[in-house]
Amino acid sequence: MNRIGHWIDGKVVEGTSGRSGVVFDPATGAQQAAVDLASVEEVDHAVAVAKAAFPEWRATNLSRRAEVMFHMRELVDANRKEIASLLSKEHGKVLGDALGEVARGLENIEFACGIPNLMKGGYSEQASNGIDVYSIKQPLGVCVGITPFNFPAMVPMWMFANALACGNTFVLKPSEKDPSVSMFVGELLKQAGLPDGTYNIVNGDKVAVDRLLTHPDVQAISFVGSTPIARYIYETGTKNGKRVQALGGAKNHMLVLADADLDMAADAAVSAAYGSAGERCMAISVVLASDAIADDLVAKIKDRLPAIVVGPASEDGSEMGPLITGEHRDKVKGYVDGAAGEGATVVVNGTSPSDLPADGFFLKPSLIDNAKPGMRCYDEEIFGPVLSVTRVKGYDDGLALINSNQFGNGTAIFTRDGGAARQFEFDVQVGMVGINVPVPVPVSYYSFGGWKASLFGDTHIYGPEGINFYTRTKVVTSRWPDPRTSRVDLGFPQNR
Ligand code: NAD
Repeated sequence: MNRIGHWIDGKVVEGTSGRSGVVFDPATGAQQAAVDLASVEEVDHAVAVAKAAFPEWRATNLSRRAEVMFHMRELVDANRKEIASLLSKEHGKVLGDALGEVARGLENIEFACGIPNLMKGGYSEQASNGIDVYSIKQPLGVCVGITPFNFPAMVPMWMFANALACGNTFVLKPSEKDPSVSMFVGELLKQAGLPDGTYNIVNGDKVAVDRLLTHPDVQAISFVGSTPIARYIYETGTKNGKRVQALGGAKNHMLVLADADLDMAADAAVSAAYGSAGERCMAISVVLASDAIADDLVAKIKDRLPAIVVGPASEDGSEMGPLITGEHRDKVKGYVDGAAGEGATVVVNGTSPSDLPADGFFLKPSLIDNAKPGMRCYDEEIFGPVLSVTRVKGYDDGLALINSNQFGNGTAIFTRDGGAARQFEFDVQVGMVGINVPVPVPVSYYSFGGWKASLFGDTHIYGPEGINFYTRTKVVTSRWPDPRTSRVDLGFPQNR
């Protein structure tokens, strides 16, 4: 049995807690590895190592820090396939999708290569007579990342690239469901020239997270995961004096107006709902279909589903892999099974795929029509290959539903009407908006984040807001003596 330890001080360290978690092969349902779950003492050790590495890394000049990021950029680029296949083996997503994840993570390392420019402060000459004022950005110290299972390579890159480039040291607590890719990335950072101790990984569960949330030497915590845990992380971390950004779950709506290109809308809805088996926080999970086109749109979506090839990531041609665990598969199935009883219409039920390995965590796409607020399939984040359709009268009706939802992560409008699209962008209470783009994940030089129950904290993650999160500002007011006024004066000292 493959055993996964921790990565501390530039090397793999075996766990000593005596506790371990199961890493499944989601395609077969079999255990493929055991991951060590850190104790409080092991977390304390990792934080102590990161704290000890901080003074030297913080004092390392900007061009050297940028150089490490450049090397890392080259290493991730050269190892795209290795990283993608490692993560796909534990997560279950198909290789093409995993390669896309690596590419979007790599963007964040590329962004961090510009750190000499990103760390620039401001300067005001002659703010008063002979006085200049300037601001400088300084790193915080030991920063922590706590990450979800669904993007095991990309989400840690959202965090550590900027955190390290800013001069912080880092402790990552990856998802215990697919931790191997983080360990490999740790090796790459070492090869890139990052000093030992600067980047560390503790594998673990609630025990490790709770210690990180209260540890006196942890300065900042970035969290990405489900909303209940995000709320807990934010409340506990801030109560313990930490800077926290905690990104939570989602229920992303795609509003299709009557003038939209329906084939384009159907292609987009299917791609965004079922890609990565729906296990994306930016997945479209509800289509708000204007009454005039709703029947046609549902028919077009339904027609596209039989062509989706569901199968193990390792099989050529697979487009959609299994879910992460059997427990999660059964939870997703429960939403579809319960939908008819709630008054919705199950148009396609993909929850009993008889032609796929029975022990694997597979579901096929499901489509639910006539979903409404008050039904579990509408109200809750399903996080699986299930798309719901809610019928709306038009723009106002659709907008009201989006704005009254507890989540505000992503949304999209499909229309040919530029005025309606602009109004939507103005009105909608959601952090990331697509106009005829179903999965509007911002590029790395903008920042990523939702509103409402999709993010707790003040800053979005990565991009310019990431630099702000991982630095604090110091403002210096300075006056230098003017040599022209300097002279020997034997008179009694007095104000002149
Ligand atoms: P999760 O909340 O179960 O786990 C996330 C992290 O929290 C993991 O590292 C896990 O070990 C830890 N954790 C879990 N339970 C905990 C507890 N009780 N106390 C302390 N720590 C705990 O999330 P997940 O299932 O791994 O990921 C899926 C969720 O993440 C979905 O809700 C999805 O929408 C969300 N997500 C959000 C974004 C975003 O950017 N907003 C991105 C990706 C995923």
